[in-house]
Amino acid sequence: MAEVLVFVDHVDGAVRKPTLELLTLARRIGDPVAVSLGNGAADTASALAEHGAVKVLTADAPEFGEYLVAPKVDALQAAYEAVSPAAVLLPSSAEGKEIGARLAVRIGSGIITDAVDLEAGDEGPVATQSVFAASFTTKSRVSKGTPVITVKPNSAPVEPAAAAGTVEALAVTVADSSKGTKVVSRTPRESTGRPDLTEAAIVVSGGRGVNGAENFPVIEALADSLGAAVGASRAAVDAGWYPHTNQVGQTGKSVSPQLYIAAGISGAIQHRAGMQTSKTIVAINKDEEAPIFDLVDYGVVGDLFNVVPALTDEVKTR
Ligand code: FAD
Repeated sequence: MAEVLVFVDHVDGAVRKPTLELLTLARRIGDPVAVSLGNGAADTASALAEHGAVKVLTADAPEFGEYLVAPKVDALQAAYEAVSPAAVLLPSSAEGKEIGARLAVRIGSGIITDAVDLEAGDEGPVATQSVFAASFTTKSRVSKGTPVITVKPNSAPVEPAAAAGTVEALAVTVADSSKGTKVVSRTPRESTGRPDLTEAAIVVSGGRGVNGAENFPVIEALADSLGAAVGASRAAVDAGWYPHTNQVGQTGKSVSPQLYIAAGISGAIQHRAGMQTSKTIVAINKDEEAPIFDLVDYGVVGDLFNVVPALTDEVKTR
């Protein structure tokens, strides 16, 4: 079976969920060979093997931490040349998309970004995308070179599948030209204890209807009762009620959770662009004519200040 390179997103050896989802998709089109780079790379091997990686190529070098993405592109290119894969899969994070795009240029391939599904096809993997603010669903395949495909988090289930996961050291030479942009400092974000917005299985978002920063704890309480991330519409962010890092939409983050709950959000096209691929959508809005009700699976017409706390209480009793 053809091998498929999977770029591993991990934090000091802890593999992040989008990579495990990539392994599920990679198994549909071939044998996954994981490429794990940086501090703790070797520690990722067992989790990757438990999710179907037949081989894990690891490399650590100070350059991976000292510079922006280019040294990782050198490493992924080295893996590509060693394996000659049928496809290269990366998570659709900012880093994943930049590494994927740079690799595609170097190897003369086409790239598909933000896929939400992947299947085997007669002429190569076929990727499903949700485009034009989620107005259309397209299926496409790369027609030039080895397909490089980035996949949005939450697009596939995490499925354990035992595999050999043989660890091999990847020989990487970081080119001088890849040392152009140096990282001068890193400031970790203060943790809220909630899941990452783009990876969360459940997202609860608040909009202008929340009517003030002082009311966002109502949204946070529901999120916490569900183990969810908190999102916000641009109206709420622009008003300074919630941080921009939590904005969902065209100019914010794109999310695809199992469950998206929108409270006090009208459903503007730019907001939909960031959440319309959610598997189940629930809206709470006091205006029964709000456009968000056109796309929901479940809608509640009512005041969020009554509905959301009642929902939170109900969830807590379960
Ligand atoms: P509104 O449209 O004002 O809707 C508020 C809703 O709350 C109403 O439907 C109202 O009925 C309801 N409501 C009020 N009080 C209550 C209550 N007590 N209980 C229940 N419901 C209540 N928007 C984004 O969200 N993300 C983006 O990334 C984004 N990018 C943009 C990019 C561009 C280039 C442009 C032009 C716009 C962008 N926007 C984005 C803005 C977008 O067009 C909308 O203005 C915005 O989404 C509206 O936010 P909202 O739904 O919270 O507010």
